[in-house]
Amino acid sequence: MALTGVQIFKLLPKTNCKKCGFPTCLAFAMKLAQRQASLDACPDVSEEAKATLGEASAPPVRPVTLGAGDKAVKMGEETVLFRHEKKFVNPPALALEIKDTESDDAVDAKIQDVVGSEINRVGQLLRIDAVFLNNDSGDAGRLASLAEKVAQKAPETAVIIGTENPEAADAAIKPFSGKNAILYGATEANAEKMAEVAKAAKAVLGVKADGLDALSSLTEKVKSLGVDDMVIDPGARSAKEMLEYNTFIRRAAIKKNFKPLGYPVINFAQRDDALHESLVAGLGIAKYASIVVVSSAEKWKNLALFTLRQNIYTDPQVPMQVEQKIYKIGDPTPDSPLLITTNFSLTYFIVSGEVENSKVPAHLAIMDCEGLSVLTAWAAGKFTGSKIANFIKESGIENEINHRELIIPGYVAILSGAIEEKLEGWKVTVGPREANALPAFLRSAQAA
Ligand code: SF4
Repeated sequence: MALTGVQIFKLLPKTNCKKCGFPTCLAFAMKLAQRQASLDACPDVSEEAKATLGEASAPPVRPVTLGAGDKAVKMGEETVLFRHEKKFVNPPALALEIKDTESDDAVDAKIQDVVGSEINRVGQLLRIDAVFLNNDSGDAGRLASLAEKVAQKAPETAVIIGTENPEAADAAIKPFSGKNAILYGATEANAEKMAEVAKAAKAVLGVKADGLDALSSLTEKVKSLGVDDMVIDPGARSAKEMLEYNTFIRRAAIKKNFKPLGYPVINFAQRDDALHESLVAGLGIAKYASIVVVSSAEKWKNLALFTLRQNIYTDPQVPMQVEQKIYKIGDPTPDSPLLITTNFSLTYFIVSGEVENSKVPAHLAIMDCEGLSVLTAWAAGKFTGSKIANFIKESGIENEINHRELIIPGYVAILSGAIEEKLEGWKVTVGPREANALPAFLRSAQAA
């Protein structure tokens, strides 16, 4: 049973030393009770208290890792139902299904789709995270040979093996032993054997059942067989079922601390139509899936899903921002242009990307506006003529450039007079409103 904040408080050192990041032991205890803090944050907690609190303070959704190395994906550990309460912790993995009935050429192309899916967006590397190798043929030999192929051609990619046949599972999981692969396909009928295979390969077990009651009983059974790391599939295949089951599972885990459903959820979004598939996958991303399986990886679809995932899993309480400083784009000289904008990450990455595209080396002044975009920062009084002038003076850029011209975003053209007033001897040039017009703007300014 879950402990209350006061019960937890009684077990803490009660020194109010603040090392946990909270002002008092009681504040920390309250957060532990709400599962919004981890017991590890208190370095002075006794072993006895750890043993008592261990279960009570465990995250309601068990942390499970898929894959190994730099591309490993952490799942679970979520503590809230809604993103405005506290951030969602671990973005769901996207897994591309490869059926073992597909031709060798199609399999090779799909492996390449996964390996080549990585993009850098706003400073984060985003990719299709895993291959879901599905034993559609029922042929254990075919599954094992494709598993070998995936292990060779995409050695860093996480793998999910999909089969209900323990012998086929045993052969196919071998190349990924110890790499946190998922063995998906444990059912009421095969649970004992699949648990043995998963334990031998140190794999996560994917448990599937028809409905939540059957799933809860099955996870209890699998746990009693000595398997702790699971991902769960309640059998939802329609968008409606996914929404209902995923929501019920998250509520049961977080609000009721119902351990049998406190595992990462795997959703299957495969559809014949790519647009339809992206909508269903988007639903899984938005509503509590930890793995979403898709059947194809068109670049447009990847971009839409990556962007959705990245935005939902950004901490709403922490603005995405970059450091205030003068960035050098290309290899600027003292005669290169100087541009200014705010330190909202998206603004920085888009503007710096477009300056780079222009092939005109430049100095890019990024001013701390608490992570706000240009117009919002201007409206909030954080991107004003006098503040910009102070920043330019204090940045030291005047000692590095020969000219005194500052290019400002077109949306704040209104600031040009105020900046020139405060920055004596400077000329302010109004740049384009949209960053994608910067390459043409910079090139024509250079040619002039
Ligand atoms: S670190 Fe431990 S002892 Fe210190 S305030 Fe936090 S809970 Fe209390």
